[in-house]
Amino acid sequence: MAASDQWLDDEGVRAPRGSVHAWRIGTNQTLCGIPLRKAGLRRFPHVLWPDARWLADTTDERLALCHRCAAAAGEHRDRRPWTRRRPRP
Ligand SMILES: [Zn+2]
Repeated sequence: MAASDQWLDDEGVRAPRGSVHAWRIGTNQTLCGIPLRKAGLRRFPHVLWPDARWLADTTDERLALCHRCAAAAGEHRDRRPWTRRRPRP
């Protein structure tokens, strides 16, 4: 993950806050194409997308998860984008 801000959880582990994007280790941009350095985003190699979602749901911290990254991360891969309908008689 990459995010514009950070906070420390109960165990002192850095967690993302602010505008949060998906980021893969070894790349220098977010999944939606934002250059990390240019945008001033911090890297959170220990935080995965489901973790960030969980943090957004369970903490009072403000996490604005990027919907473009959510789509790119395959959040809705279990939903079919298109279903075949029976042709009209
Ligand atoms: Zn993004």
